[in-house]
Amino acid sequence: MLTTIIIFLVLSANQFNFQKTQAKQNTPAKTNTITENDSTYPSIRIITDVSDDPNTPFSLNYPQADNDIFNETILTYINDSKKEYLAKLKKNEMNAKESEAPPGKLSINLETYSYKDQYLSFVLTKELSTGNTNKTITTKTFVYNIKTKKLMQLSTLLNQDEHHLTTLAKHLQNQLSQESKIKDTLIAEKLQMATKPLWENFDCFALTDDSLIFYFDNRKLTDTASGITVLPISLSFINPILSTDFQIQMEDVKTILSSEQKPTNQKLVALTFDDGPHPDVTPRILSILNKYHAKATFFMLGNRVKNYPDIAKSVASCGHEIGNHTWSHPILTKLTMEEILYEFNSTDQAIYEATGQHPTLFRPPYGATNDNIKAQIPVPTVIWSIDTLDWKHRNAQQLVTNVQNSLHNNAIILMHDIHPTTADAMDPLLAYLQQQGYQFVTVSEILASK
Ligand code: ZN
Repeated sequence: MLTTIIIFLVLSANQFNFQKTQAKQNTPAKTNTITENDSTYPSIRIITDVSDDPNTPFSLNYPQADNDIFNETILTYINDSKKEYLAKLKKNEMNAKESEAPPGKLSINLETYSYKDQYLSFVLTKELSTGNTNKTITTKTFVYNIKTKKLMQLSTLLNQDEHHLTTLAKHLQNQLSQESKIKDTLIAEKLQMATKPLWENFDCFALTDDSLIFYFDNRKLTDTASGITVLPISLSFINPILSTDFQIQMEDVKTILSSEQKPTNQKLVALTFDDGPHPDVTPRILSILNKYHAKATFFMLGNRVKNYPDIAKSVASCGHEIGNHTWSHPILTKLTMEEILYEFNSTDQAIYEATGQHPTLFRPPYGATNDNIKAQIPVPTVIWSIDTLDWKHRNAQQLVTNVQNSLHNNAIILMHDIHPTTADAMDPLLAYLQQQGYQFVTVSEILASK
């Protein structure tokens, strides 16, 4: 008797499971099969929607959670994708002679990343082709907070701070310009547009325990490449621009800009001058810096130091920091390691001969570098957080305005002591920064202040 009951229970359980996983249909005619599976994340189910009609093949994977708004948001994207695809197929069918056109393909694949078991990033990669048209690949991401059951935007991650966005945008722009797969076909204007510091430019991202991953549609960067460029940035690198909930305690790690975590009310700014020394412009800048008791950092070119050793010497004797900016200003990422080290070492030597001190920092021309190069250069590599574009507009007022527009604490401001207009901008710029309560320090002091 007992055995019978157990067998009956087992049978019922099986039958129940069978019903649960059996195909559901969302249209009267059976054209697709939807199945639902639990995921490894609590309360998240993975839905698979596969077409049963060979004329309209598709295969879609997406998540659903225990929240209606989230589910609706995902379903809207899925259903819109399906509608667009089916409409295109229909149009193709009408255009094609005697249905010569191959059907098409729509697939949406799901990848899931988790951050501290609280945020799940769903990355939906869509591959779409209809008839003879080329395949397009696009990515859509949803970052879901399991605790609040809400989607998270990038602005939350960056503490709603536009300056943080600008810093990040600059970094991503720089990274994209070095991305080997698209570098050769990259269009400068497109890159500028796609990395303009607007929140909507960076809404395709995923968060993992150690990095923030951005997805860029190659069609927005080039005219020829298709597909997606995936750019992961380590969270420790962008730690200072993250909102406190996402920050980690750091020790001695190079970051996108130095941390503002130190409990101090000091406002610090580092003025930096590249490409000198220059026989007229550099002394003019030195005298204004002196007027404001300001310390700055000069990233010198070896070949110019060789021509103007006295100017280099006077920069050092005024107490400013000196950095190495290579001998001949090449794009380092295009050189061999041997050539790179020659650029570094010959400049180090020239600066030492002129000033009696070795440069303490290195700045690669155009900001073009990579981890491999950084590892070979014996001093810290420093880029900048505010680009004044002084070399481009050659306008003193514009230089001041550009700094005002993106000013933030611990900023590293990029200028060039070879343009007279940059020297013209010094007095109004320093007056403004001083009035805003900033102290003028060297780059190494900024790096040490975190
Ligand atoms: Zn330069």
